[in-house]
Amino acid sequence: MKLDATDLRYITSDEFRVLTAVEMGSKNHEIVPTVLIVKISGLRNGGVNKLLGSLAKRNLVSRVQNARYDGYRLTYGGYDYLAMRALSKRDSVYSVGNQIGVGKESDIYIIADKEGQEMVLKLHRLGRISFRAIKSKRDYMGKRKSASWMYLSRLSAEKEYAFMKVLYEHDFPVPRPVDHARHCILMEFIDAYPLRQIADIPSPGALYSELMDLIVRFARAGLIHGDFNEFNILIRRETGKPVVIDFPQMVSTSHKNAEWYFNRDVECIRRFFKRRFRYESSIYPRFRAINNEKSGDGSEEWHLDLVVAASGYNQGEQKVLEEYMDSYLQEQTRAGSDEESEGSGDDEGDEEEDEEFEEASSDEDGEQDEVVSNEGEEEEGGEDAGVQHD
Ligand code: ADP
Ligand code: MG
Repeated sequence: MKLDATDLRYITSDEFRVLTAVEMGSKNHEIVPTVLIVKISGLRNGGVNKLLGSLAKRNLVSRVQNARYDGYRLTYGGYDYLAMRALSKRDSVYSVGNQIGVGKESDIYIIADKEGQEMVLKLHRLGRISFRAIKSKRDYMGKRKSASWMYLSRLSAEKEYAFMKVLYEHDFPVPRPVDHARHCILMEFIDAYPLRQIADIPSPGALYSELMDLIVRFARAGLIHGDFNEFNILIRRETGKPVVIDFPQMVSTSHKNAEWYFNRDVECIRRFFKRRFRYESSIYPRFRAINNEKSGDGSEEWHLDLVVAASGYNQGEQKVLEEYMDSYLQEQTRAGSDEESEGSGDDEGDEEEDEEFEEASSDEDGEQDEVVSNEGEEEEGGEDAGVQHD
């Protein structure tokens, strides 16, 4: 999904009104009936149809005709537009530069503010993959019938921003969070390579210890990164120091599967160092040891999970995201997780990974498919594979 920022500022106020009406209608309708768009926008019927036509031409909404009614849905492009417009109104974003990354569930761009200061824009794109996982989870959406990619992506961005902010304020090596809007977050650009791209380092043991210390520091603060791997650790070009990114899946050490997540983070690093640098150590952190030592001290520093929870991001809503992440994890486990296929060979495995990576983002223009299914269109129930939790 390309971000089209060329005409960010050029949209008439009536078009904007209608676009916003589609977004509002999306809260309870997967396909927003045209009559509802007219009602929300408060504009004349004929006028609205014309405006919808021109928004559709620019791919900000797409028209859907189904048996029951005619309607529109907001596209990725439309949602991007609304978020970017908000960020640019606040002067956080002035111009959009190159795309520097396509993750499984995000697009990453370099942007600049008015002063030319470069920053990283991360657009969350949940539901691009792992779509089956959600559909098979019957109770997934609860009362909310249309938990769409849009809703999930916004929850994911809000969560990531909240964690990044608290971590940054407590001196963890993470990018400085700058702003956020809808499914987008803006953060400091780190001049670095992902650990994944680094073939050789002078002292693998030192970096290994530093990363394990970081996992321990997270855990002492009540947090587990949950995806602590060579893609999400950046190595600063100048100093060789690690910076951790990518926080939508963070969990508290009081999560019921905390130990499992913790061990997975530790294992990721151990496996990577063994494969890439032929470095192995019998020293690695144990969850229980850290958890036991925690009980003595009640200070804030030890409970960043609670600090984040109290920081105002919506805990209730976040349950939906959590369920999504759980079902995603189960789907991964069912399909044979990435990590397992990675572990099978030596460096040849890397090739495969890249392919998977690309595949995951190749259906970019498939807006139509991105929305959680209509009622009645459920896939076969499929028992949950059940992640091994002990
Ligand atoms: P995803 O959730 O899709 O994995 P990430 O947050 O991990 O997204 O970012 C994907 C890639 O974008 C990273 O591997 C990194 O190369 C690049 N990136 C992300 N944030 C930054 C940043 N603040 N500075 C520099 N590069 C970044
Ligand atoms: Mg990542």
